[in-house]
Amino acid sequence: MTESIKKVLLKKKAELLKDLNKDLKSEKNDFDSEIGDFYDNADTERGRQLFHLLSGREQDKLNAIDDALQRIEDGTYGVCEECGKKIHKERLKIMPFAKFCVACQSEMEKHAAKVKESMEEEFTYKDISIGEVEEGDENV
Ligand SMILES: [Zn+2]
Repeated sequence: MTESIKKVLLKKKAELLKDLNKDLKSEKNDFDSEIGDFYDNADTERGRQLFHLLSGREQDKLNAIDDALQRIEDGTYGVCEECGKKIHKERLKIMPFAKFCVACQSEMEKHAAKVKESMEEEFTYKDISIGEVEEGDENV
């Protein structure tokens, strides 16, 4: 079973590398054609940022694939890193580089959302307390 997954992963990796190369080439062409065009500078800059964002994501995917290949070598592939249970075969078919089972993944996503929420709350709270300090009528 892992042999076929390995094949899928290697194929995905090859596809990603091909896409990355294609992106790099097309970015270079855009850059060449827009040199000296000041009016398009802002757009180009934004485009480049988008490109880096994208390639960062592709990079993450590549890392995830390499990671999965490593786990196949180690014999730990298909086991949830969080709870140690086996990850469902159907899930691995859809996400061959999944590290966590569905339950742990959704738990983590919930947690991430909570962290984001509490960070946003903290920022709001700080804004309010700065306002209170400026008024300076009460010490807590
Ligand atoms: Zn789990």
